[in-house]
Amino acid sequence: MRAWTLWTLCITPALAGCVFTRDAIKLPSENAVTRDQLVIHSDASLSGEQPLIDELSALRHEVAAKLQLPPSEQPVHLYLFDAADRFDSFVQREHPDFPNRRAFFVAEGGFLKVYACRGARIAEDLRHEVTHGYLHASVPQLPLWLDEGLAEYFEVPPAQRGLNKPHVTLLLQRWQDRQWAPDLARLEQLRSSRDMTQQDYAESWAWVHFSLESNTPRREWLCRYLASLQKEERVPPLSSLLATIEPDAAQALVEHLRGL
Ligand SMILES: [Zn+2]
Repeated sequence: MRAWTLWTLCITPALAGCVFTRDAIKLPSENAVTRDQLVIHSDASLSGEQPLIDELSALRHEVAAKLQLPPSEQPVHLYLFDAADRFDSFVQREHPDFPNRRAFFVAEGGFLKVYACRGARIAEDLRHEVTHGYLHASVPQLPLWLDEGLAEYFEVPPAQRGLNKPHVTLLLQRWQDRQWAPDLARLEQLRSSRDMTQQDYAESWAWVHFSLESNTPRREWLCRYLASLQKEERVPPLSSLLATIEPDAAQALVEHLRGL
């Protein structure tokens, strides 16, 4: 059931005017563009979407290079809805237990799929969800916190090098108010995105940013950990590895955030 739990908790507009129908909702299919792994399906023409397609194509290489993962050839299908009411009806029919969202990723039946509705934040939404697709094509058994932390890292425009300022502000404020302290072992216990708060997303992002952007040894141990997840069936949680190689990681994470 894990595939059904892989969705984003991006804040979405209120779903006013949702229509539930007994008829199957037709997926966008009039136009299709394939770019490497990514297959984009849309009813509207995609000829004006070249910058977005280029960006999502480049994202594949960014993810692979940053994480030292061999790119997979497994297709990631992106269904791009034009109208919010049709997208909402589709979600209500196919995934009625999902909360409101603008976009989501599912791995089901051996297929990797992203569903999204065009809107003001479509580029950010797609960088997040398509990252899930690329990651799952290479490392299907990602821990939830790492899956979401990496998607949050790659959802910001590439020039920001994964820096998500709202997450930094949230975490430092709560740390100063003694309402939060880094606890990777607690994050590792989360089994469903439903159970993740905004703070959990922010902390997941923080562990990823700390690992990838603070120094080379940390980036190397995260890449080694991902390689282990890719090749081995049973991999201990990262927190147990950190307890050995960097026992003061929680404090170092706070210092990293304060330096951003
Ligand atoms: Zn996500």
